[in-house]
Amino acid sequence: MPTVAFIGLGNMGGPMAKNLLKAGWAVRAFDLSELALTDVVAAGAVAAPSAAMAGEGADVVFSMLPAGEHVKSVMLGDAGVFSGLPAGTLVLDASTIDAPTARELHLAARDYGIDFMDTPVSGGVAAAQAGTLAFMCGGSAEAFIRAKEVLKALGSEEKIFHAGSDGAGQVAKAANNMLLAIHMIGTCEALAIGAANGLDPAVQSEIMKASSGNNWSLQVYNPWPGVMEGAPAGDDYKPGFMVDLMAKDLGLAIELAEQSSVDAGFGRRANAVYKALQAAGLGRDDFSIVMRSLIQSDDA
Ligand code: NAD
Repeated sequence: MPTVAFIGLGNMGGPMAKNLLKAGWAVRAFDLSELALTDVVAAGAVAAPSAAMAGEGADVVFSMLPAGEHVKSVMLGDAGVFSGLPAGTLVLDASTIDAPTARELHLAARDYGIDFMDTPVSGGVAAAQAGTLAFMCGGSAEAFIRAKEVLKALGSEEKIFHAGSDGAGQVAKAANNMLLAIHMIGTCEALAIGAANGLDPAVQSEIMKASSGNNWSLQVYNPWPGVMEGAPAGDDYKPGFMVDLMAKDLGLAIELAEQSSVDAGFGRRANAVYKALQAAGLGRDDFSIVMRSLIQSDDA
């Protein structure tokens, strides 16, 4: 049975590891959290005492960690995962991290003869559970062919993209989530203008979906409470996708824009909006909560 080492078994990594088990992989799992580890072990994984020991003997290593610093500390250094892997091992980092750190990991992996890819995801916890994640992959064409075979267990094949060379997956992810933040805010503002002028938000949503304002926030994540069944707006903005995570992703996008001398003015505005929501104590609410401050009290 092929073996995968899975490091980072949180909201995303836990269900992903379970889907690999379902697809017939043996999973050697590691997380600093005993609780996260226990949950995946109950589904059939074997607990490893450290990240490096999870990697030993694995055909593929996966990581799904909070940020670049965590991935670096797990992978690099004398006690890191890379140093214990045989040349040719495939390592996939599905975390959302900054592109420069991803490129640094590619360089280090090359020294060990490891096939490394940055493979951040889109789709959130529900897609991680359903095995319908989108993957954007950065690295060599050869590594991508190998990666795709594994990623098929976690996402739809038509949504597994080779974004380009080292770090390209992280660039695609940051740019995508910046656009998501901008069109969510725009959607909220458009609905607020309509409601303040007597339009029914459900009717206006249908009009915009059939018109040139159509976008993902309207299609599957309508921010006006009650317009769309299953959307976080109807459940008091429980996530979904937390404001804290959107603020993190916007930070990465703005950093990238600055590093590459792109004047991402709307991205900066969106970043300020999400930072203000965090400052207001709404970091753990869904990112569509932008809507709430725009709704006039007698509308909703
Ligand atoms: P999470 O906080 O639920 O899980 C992270 C896990 O990593 C935790 O269980 C933590 O204990 C573990 N961890 C931290 N440092 C570690 C270390 N040194 N060794 C081993 N384990 C360690 O986060 P999440 O929501 O699963 O997100 C993981 C990544 O996926 C992040 O980069 C996030 O930005 C990205 N992402 C999340 C979502 C989402 O909707 N949650 C969507 C797309 C992408």
